[in-house]
Amino acid sequence: MAIQSVRGMPDILPEQAGAWRYLEQQAQRIFNAHGLTQIRTPIVEDTALFARSIGDVTDIVEKEMYTFEDRSGDSLTLRPELTAGVVRAAIEHGLLHNQTQRLWYQGPAFRHERPQKGRYRQFHQIGVECFGIADALMDAELIEMTDQLWKQLRIRDSVTLELNSIGSPEARAHYRDALVDFLSARKDQLDEDSQSRLERSPLRILDSKNESTQALLSDAPSLMDYLTDDDREHFTVLTRALEEAGIDFRINPRLVRGLDYYGRTVFEWTTQALGAQGTICGGGRYDGLVEHLGGRPTPGVGFALGMERVVLLMESLNVIPDAYQTQADVYLMPQQVECESTIRRLARDLRSQFPTLRVMTHIGGGSLKSQLKKADKSGAEIGIIIGQMELESGHIVYKPLRGGDQETLTEAELLHRISELKDA
Ligand code: ATP
Ligand code: MG
Repeated sequence: MAIQSVRGMPDILPEQAGAWRYLEQQAQRIFNAHGLTQIRTPIVEDTALFARSIGDVTDIVEKEMYTFEDRSGDSLTLRPELTAGVVRAAIEHGLLHNQTQRLWYQGPAFRHERPQKGRYRQFHQIGVECFGIADALMDAELIEMTDQLWKQLRIRDSVTLELNSIGSPEARAHYRDALVDFLSARKDQLDEDSQSRLERSPLRILDSKNESTQALLSDAPSLMDYLTDDDREHFTVLTRALEEAGIDFRINPRLVRGLDYYGRTVFEWTTQALGAQGTICGGGRYDGLVEHLGGRPTPGVGFALGMERVVLLMESLNVIPDAYQTQADVYLMPQQVECESTIRRLARDLRSQFPTLRVMTHIGGGSLKSQLKKADKSGAEIGIIIGQMELESGHIVYKPLRGGDQETLTEAELLHRISELKDA
């Protein structure tokens, strides 16, 4: 029997890869326009890094990590997200000493979850981390970047921004006590998971997907009421900046996100179009994380988007530009073996004159009909045919492949025609 891919680790096939490339290019363009630089960190890290940064009492660390011992007996883990590695690298290489950093990254992450639409065991994130800037305007700029990306990808109308402040550690400590009091009195009404979290990690109960637990929480104390004055000020600066930028948001007091070292700002972009896997992007502020991982106290804020979910959304809305779903703009067809070297030379000329033009030559002979079939499949707009007659007269047949009449042109006329099309 042939060997299959690992469950939950899908291949990204050529017909899908265009959408991925489109997403990557648009994200990189926006990051570039905001002065971000890229960082690339290894896929494998010391297991302790994730246990420490994500927190022991999280779904990720408790149940989802791919952890193994290597041949030297070291405990290593396939990264379940990229923030931890980025923070580790920034500390290790002194990137945080007397300087700020605005970094972006992209790559695979691994979680042993139950695979389903929008949830995989190998998935991909694009994200941003900014270090050394405590101002809420940085939070706002990150959110604005994501807003721009959705607009650029033409999925903006299908996503909404949810926002919350989970306050500083001291605010959360007070709130935690109030929440535990409230929930302890109703412990028997909580789902099993939430009961076990009550002592170890009560704030995560707010995140519970259990409906009766959510119903119970509607009367629970609200974290917003426990924020310090500075927390409130931070949130006000953020919401005002978003309003100025024309970005709508919904304050969701239950939004806490799964990670331990978040503080103040948390946000998520969600969609109704993908069923249960509706969060396409999440982020927030983690001012305690760098210090927690052994660096000097350094504020941080970031986000990560799930590429699979964004691609699914783009596919369902049919917004992927044709150029990312086809192979070629121009398809050249030699009708005899004697025409092949002219076709190859013409293809070289086109590629050098129009560096972004996608030029494919037909290779392998066959009838005109079968060549035109391949031309059609390539997605090309323009077919160029050279047969014995054209070879002798120094012309080419210009054949619009998506409707229109064919013409006989000189090569100079062809180049002119294509430059006009490219300008249009
Ligand atoms: P969820 O609530 O859906 O499990 P999460 O809170 O675990 O998401 P994060 O750790 O915040 O997710 O990761 C950021 C983004 O990465 C998510 O918003 C989502 O788009 C994507 N993501 C997370 N886990 C997966 C997965 N197993 N498969 C595909 N995408 C994922
Ligand atoms: Mg998850």
